[in-house]
Amino acid sequence: MNKKPAILLIYTGGTIGMVKDFKTGALRAFNFDQLVERIPELHLLDCSIETYSFEVPIDSSDMRPEMWVQMASVVEEYYDKFDGFVILHGSDTMSYSASALSFMLENLHKPVILTGSQLPIGDLRTDAKENLITAIQVAALQHDDKPVIQEVCLYFEYKLYRGNRTSKVSAELFNAFTSPNIPHLAESGVNLRVNKPLLVYSNEKLPLKVHKEMSRNVMILKIFPGIQQNVLEAILNIKDLKGIVLETYGSGNAPTEAWFISTLSEAIKNGLKVINVTQCSSGSVHMGKYETSTELKEIGVISGKDITTEAAITKLMYLLSKKDIVDFKTAFETPICGEMEAE
Ligand code: ASP
Repeated sequence: MNKKPAILLIYTGGTIGMVKDFKTGALRAFNFDQLVERIPELHLLDCSIETYSFEVPIDSSDMRPEMWVQMASVVEEYYDKFDGFVILHGSDTMSYSASALSFMLENLHKPVILTGSQLPIGDLRTDAKENLITAIQVAALQHDDKPVIQEVCLYFEYKLYRGNRTSKVSAELFNAFTSPNIPHLAESGVNLRVNKPLLVYSNEKLPLKVHKEMSRNVMILKIFPGIQQNVLEAILNIKDLKGIVLETYGSGNAPTEAWFISTLSEAIKNGLKVINVTQCSSGSVHMGKYETSTELKEIGVISGKDITTEAAITKLMYLLSKKDIVDFKTAFETPICGEMEAE
């Protein structure tokens, strides 16, 4: 008989562990030990659970790359001791963190599942218990003594998603996340159904490699009808800016006005990396499909294909911190861990 899987529960903050301040009525983070106390069901699970809490739990709107490094470092430190990791995280920036971690944890062979909730764990109608309990069960899933899931995922409201394919789409519904361009990886109903052909596995022989540098010289610019030349110029001329995610229309289209193209072209010539992602909530960028994107392609704009904005910005932060990239465009347009389509 094999031993029970060991799961490390990492608490970073978020609504899941919040209480209402009795004076102001605002939600604030509380002590993690109380969180475990509030879910006695955790003791019924067929795995052993240990916990690790960030010293100061945060609302995930305060998330910063240093905390991604902290999360990745905890996984690294306890990698051999545990079979899986569940990260409790606020839902607001969970897709950014899941995306960042997917790039930072190279050759991951164990599950790292991010989850949280829309209502605090103590609330009568909370979604926290189901999310937490099933996230732990997913992290503990084994086949032939090996974890079934070996990537960074996000579990919310009965669905397991590839973390770097998700976006938060509702501030109201329990069903707060979507994975617009690939189906969910598993669904929890009476049974836990895993869509095995969709899972990604890295080379078994390669050891975990944790990347701890993320460039912050980046930004996201969503274009809109009426965007002005002085605005674009001011943004592209920000000191030390190295990369920008440009949210364009439809399949990657943008204004064809001469000033727009020449301002972008100049910035690209000066070394700025410009990634084209779509503002649409699903689908892919195909530069050259319309005349309105042909010039973008010609001036060296990089295609984000069907990547989410969250994955695009974190991939940009990750790649910009690498010293050894010869062809940045190819590096960005090549999938690293299932974050974009291959073609
Ligand atoms: N503002 C909270 C956070 O992101 C919302 C949540 O936890 O769902 O930390």
